[in-house]
Amino acid sequence: MVAGSSEPGTGPVVGVLDLQGDVREHLAALTEVGCVPRLVKWPGDLEGLSGLVLPGGESTTLSMLLESTGLFEAVDARLGAEDRRLPLLGTCAGLVLVAREVLDGRPDQRTFGVLDGVVRRNGYGRQEQSFEADVVFGSGEGPPLPTVFIRAPVLVSVGAAVDVLATLDGVPVLVRQGSVLASSFHPELTPDRRVHRLFAEMCVSDEPGALIG
Ligand code: GLN
Repeated sequence: MVAGSSEPGTGPVVGVLDLQGDVREHLAALTEVGCVPRLVKWPGDLEGLSGLVLPGGESTTLSMLLESTGLFEAVDARLGAEDRRLPLLGTCAGLVLVAREVLDGRPDQRTFGVLDGVVRRNGYGRQEQSFEADVVFGSGEGPPLPTVFIRAPVLVSVGAAVDVLATLDGVPVLVRQGSVLASSFHPELTPDRRVHRLFAEMCVSDEPGALIG
């Protein structure tokens, strides 16, 4: 098991939710950090997964498709598992899907609520306000992280149990709570693999992971 290495295909099996959104780029990024990626369209595809990526797209549409495929309940069950909770990486719309509370969402949109944070949909502006930025990663000793924001959600607030791993203008844009990693931006759209490498490490960790209730 060599999560975090650049040798492909020997690390954890990690799913990418394949209902809508930028799936291919996540598959490539996971392969680059040594994971074995798998497309997830139906509940049975979760079998044996060590982690799951919730990609960008439209969180309202993703929420509906998660429900109609039965995946919402199936993923939710793996998030509540006592022994080992399924690690999640939520990017952009995926961040909305893991947050405890959504502002400017649709009233019927559902989230897994495993990240103690409040997000505002499209808080960074609409499509024409998409932008690239170098954000401060970790405590700032490493190089800044290049990022792409596309109709991105803003993390309005996070709870005390949430670690802030990167900020833009002082606002959290990459956060971790136990086995949940989430970003406002699209880490799969730049060549920097630090976010996917960290997630690969989380997928092979023995820690049971976080659960907020
Ligand atoms: N605005 C989208 C949403 O709230 C997210 C956009 C994206 O994932 N690029 O669902």
